[in-house]
Amino acid sequence: MDPATLPSRADLMRLDRDDPLAQYRDRFVLEEGLIYLNGNSLGALPRAARSRAVEVVEQEWGLGLVRSWNRHGWVSLPERVGDRVAGLIGAEPGEVVVADSTSVNLFKLAAAAIRMRPGRSKIVSEPGNFPTDLYILQGLEGFLQGDVRLETVPRDALASHIDEDTALVVLTHVHYKSGELFDMAAITARAHEVGALMLWDLSHSAGAVPVDLNGVRADFAVGCGYKYLNGGPGAPGYLFVARRHLADFHQPLSGWFGHVEPFAMRDDYQPADSIQRGLCGTPGVIGTAVMEVGVELQASADMTEIRAKSLRLGELFIQLVEAHCDGMGFALASPRDSARRGSQVSFTHEHAYPIMQALIARNIIGDFRAPDILRFGFAPLYVRHVDIWDTVQALADIMVTREWDKPQFRQRSAVT
Ligand SMILES: *Cc1c(COP(=O)(O)O)cnc(C)c1O
Repeated sequence: MDPATLPSRADLMRLDRDDPLAQYRDRFVLEEGLIYLNGNSLGALPRAARSRAVEVVEQEWGLGLVRSWNRHGWVSLPERVGDRVAGLIGAEPGEVVVADSTSVNLFKLAAAAIRMRPGRSKIVSEPGNFPTDLYILQGLEGFLQGDVRLETVPRDALASHIDEDTALVVLTHVHYKSGELFDMAAITARAHEVGALMLWDLSHSAGAVPVDLNGVRADFAVGCGYKYLNGGPGAPGYLFVARRHLADFHQPLSGWFGHVEPFAMRDDYQPADSIQRGLCGTPGVIGTAVMEVGVELQASADMTEIRAKSLRLGELFIQLVEAHCDGMGFALASPRDSARRGSQVSFTHEHAYPIMQALIARNIIGDFRAPDILRFGFAPLYVRHVDIWDTVQALADIMVTREWDKPQFRQRSAVT
């Protein structure tokens, strides 16, 4: 397709016919007529996850009861699923464990990292990072009562603020609002140049963009199970500790599941030698078992194809919005250069909230992020090229007819 000419709906249908990932769509539960552009917030339900949920509840829990901890490998689930996630983020088996939430994992890793850099007083992050990341770091700052302070620095000034006093740099690889990608290799190298440690939040990366943690020698990482990994609402998060740091990695939530021998029931904590030391308490078996299905499905797809389709969807979306919604008040809020973009495209509009509500009323689901962002996520395993066309036509129609201006679209719900 010539990039200079505007594609037609038929062109996009042709791309769907030739799409090497097309077979994956049927492996998800997606209602007929629904266009789902919010897999970056909550991934769709894999069909196999539904049957796995029934199995783990009815067979393993219902019939197996407590015997299932051994019989069905419940105890090793966090590490087993962790090894699967490792393959998606450029880590080795034994470097990743699945447990708790991304927020809690971030606390564990940041606290452990500070302990590994005594005498240094700064954590560096960026303003506008995902709220929980900043809140957790602020909580840690308060807990440490002045020994460590959080410094948030805009992207273009980051390198000069990462200095000999920096213990840890915490950044989100793909920005949740703009979809902008950080240069993971360059920033990690900068942190290491001054002896600081680097922690990446991969919540909007894993499963959507190639990530090579060991290739860039990242020290730590966290991420989310319920976005592109399709793990289900509130699925556990994961944490990564580079193998070279494992022996020095001491996280403060030293619960019994991180103990070298949890069932020895001793009084004194001694961390496991393995990545299991990243665990705290009893794993959420049902959630982790269901998540495993989503991770396996993701791992079965080719990342080169995923990235290529994701970029194609994003480029088509930008091109069509700018052509069909020209002069309607939308401004691109994501990098135009695909190489600097994750798997989402955002536009600003002064009426972003009611416009998104009007789209949702037409069964086209994206989301709104305050104050004025319309966010469209493209999960390459189930979003079709033709969905892009239909979304842009609906958007243009909502604008031309002023459908967005109806009073019911102004009511804000708790979750936007
Ligand atoms: C979604 C997301 C989270 C979510 O954290 P939870 O603890 O699961 O609520 C954290 N960080 C980033 C960057 C995210 O995008």
